[in-house]
Formats: sequence, C-alpha cells, structure tokens
Amino acid sequence: MISEKMKVLANNNSAIRAMFEEGNRLAALYGRENVYDFSLGNPNFPAPEAVKKAAIEILESSDPVYLHGYMSNAGYPEVRSVVAESLNRRFGTDFTADNLIMTVGAAGGLNVILKALLNPGDQVIAVAPYFVEYGNYVRNYDGELVVVNSKPDTFQIDIDAVCAAINEKTKAIILNSPNNPTGVIYSAETLTALGEALTKKQEELGTKIFIISDEPYRELAYDGAEVPFMTKFYKNTVVCYSWSKSLSLPGERIGYLLIPSQCDEFETLFTAASIANRVLGFVNAPSLFQLVAAKCVDVPSDVSGYDENRKLLYDGLTRCGFECVFPQGAFYIWMKTPEPDDKAFCERAKKYNILPVPGASFAYTGYVRLAYCVSKETIVNSMPSFKKLAEEYGL
Ligand code: PLP
Repeated sequence: MISEKMKVLANNNSAIRAMFEEGNRLAALYGRENVYDFSLGNPNFPAPEAVKKAAIEILESSDPVYLHGYMSNAGYPEVRSVVAESLNRRFGTDFTADNLIMTVGAAGGLNVILKALLNPGDQVIAVAPYFVEYGNYVRNYDGELVVVNSKPDTFQIDIDAVCAAINEKTKAIILNSPNNPTGVIYSAETLTALGEALTKKQEELGTKIFIISDEPYRELAYDGAEVPFMTKFYKNTVVCYSWSKSLSLPGERIGYLLIPSQCDEFETLFTAASIANRVLGFVNAPSLFQLVAAKCVDVPSDVSGYDENRKLLYDGLTRCGFECVFPQGAFYIWMKTPEPDDKAFCERAKKYNILPVPGASFAYTGYVRLAYCVSKETIVNSMPSFKKLAEEYGL
C-alpha cells in the first residue's frame, strides 16, 4: 500500500530501531549506568539559562495574536534583521532580513533549498563520510545523491574527486563543517581551492552549481579553531544553520537558511525557497523560538563540557591503542576499527556494552563514530571495557 520510496525507508528504519532497542535491552540487563551508549547526537547539556529567560519574557510581554499567529513564510522580519546584523558583526558581511528564511532546524533548511533547486534527475554531491539523511532529503525531490570520498587521514574535501564527479546534472554539493561524523573543520585553504574549482566548472559547463553548507555545529569548535565562513569562498553558497546544538534546542526545531544576494538569480531563488517553506507544510518556523533565537543570537555556546569529554575520550581511546581523528569541532570521535569490517567491530563492542555507530551508516567503512555528548561518567566508566575490547584485538 505505501509508496515504493517509503518502503525502502521503512525497511532501513528497522536497523536504526534495532540499535536503539539493543541499548534498551542491555540497559535492562546490566543497568543504564553500565551501558556505554555513544550512538546518539543529542546534546546532553541543557540550554543556557538565557533561553528560558527569553522564552518567559516573550510569553509574558508579547501580544498573543502576534506571538502565536501565522506570519510571512520567511519568518518575522525583525528576527531576520537581528540574525543578519549578528552575522554581519561576526563575519564582516552585509546581509539583511531579505537574505534570511527562518526554518525548522537545519534539516528544514536543507529540504527547503533542495526543493527550490532540484529537478528530477539532478545530482547532489555529498562528501563521505556524511550525515546519512542527505540521501533521503535529496531523494525527497527525485534528485540523485552522488558520493565522493574525502581525503583519507585528513578527511578534508578531495577537490579532484569532487571535480571528477561534476557533470551537467550537478546542481549542488552539500558540505558540513565542523563535520559529523569526523569532527574535522574544512580549512580556508581547502575551501578556497574548492571555490576556484567550482567557478571553473560552472564556466566550463555553463551551469550553476551551489554549495549547500550544513552548519548545525558551527559554534562547536575547540582550542580557538576558526570555522571559515563559507559564503566568502564561493558566490553560489547558501547556509543551513540551526540552534539545535549551539543552544541545545534540537526539539524546538529552529534555524535559518541564508541566501546571499551574490547568488545567481538571487531573487527568484529566495522567492522559491520561501514558497518551498510553505508548500512543504512547514508554513513558517516556530514563532516563539524565532523570537527566542533573536534574543539569544549573541549568547555564546559553552563548549567547555564537550571539550572536557572530547579530551577524556580521545586520550582514553588512544591509550588503549585505538587510532582516532582528533576532533576540531562538533561532538563526535571518528575512530578507525582494528578490523576492516566496522559492523563486525560494533558487534564485538556490544559484548562490552559499548555502542558506537558503524562507519557504514555514513557511507564509509573501517571506522566507527562515537558521540561524546554523554555524561563524563559514561566516558570514565567505559574505559575498562574499551581496554578489554582493545586487548581482544591485541592492541
Ligand atoms: N546536519 C547534520 C550534519 C546533523 O548532524 C544534524 C543533526 O544531527 C542535522 C543536520 C539536523 O539538524 P537540525 O536539528 O538543525 O535539523
């Protein structure tokens, strides 16, 4: 009865559910505190106090018709202005409200821009390892996801591989920095070279190719690492941002899509994206949290807890003999598995109540992802188990 497209998703869903259920099964057997679940990217630190204060203030002081009413599909104009001004202060840009559409998280923004850009059969490049939902989002609009591997070891973008994948059907490339799952931040050098290569490809093919920069982890960078601002490297760059991770608000579904005026056919694209927000059924982003985001736009993300977890987990794993990418941002560790089959490794890890996500879930084998947005105790208590797992492999 259900659509063929959804049949595929429904079947895949059972694998994700199985992982979730395995966590619950182990917790029932051994106690939640003895299960080391590193599988979920759900922020474990609460939203800053400023968020609660802003929400209460808005609820108490706003006209309820304005606060709970429909609005322009792009969102409250004054919220978009506040966000634009904040970006301009931070990045020396000159955006206005007319460059911003408030969205239902970064995921909403990605769907809106893909709906606005794609014709059936258009191709979108993703750089593996990548967030697996990209394939689903692209297929929502009958596009085709084309996967290109990042450079081994550094996990920076392999520009030659990207160029080799580009043809007349290429509409966009999705980038995610800081990256889920590798924790890598794409360097300014890489982005400069990519911008030049894409400009050349556009000229050669006479087509338009967009960078869609997916940035829910932009504020989660460590050791003072700078996350280069993507629109500076290539004209046709749009940004999908959210406050899901930076302010620990994933359930509130609030973010924005930034379309700079420098983009080709800017006005048509902006109109198409605003309408996409409507016809996808979002209509507009949640009103209360648009206003909260505007009030909290300059509240810094406190990454100290994640930073502590990052060092603790990285040091512990490397001491056990595992090989990991030292994360510069986001809240994941990308760890090489001591056997090539990452799914088999995950099965063995389960014996020690350790739950990582296999690299295969990010279209990349031989690695697993460990989310360190967990309690410090989970990391500390998991170490003897990691040690035993390492010993099984003779590390
Ligand atoms: N993109 C990446 C790479 C993610 O990891 C996630 C969520 O984990 C999202 C997008 C979706 O974020 P949001 O909650 O803002 O929709």
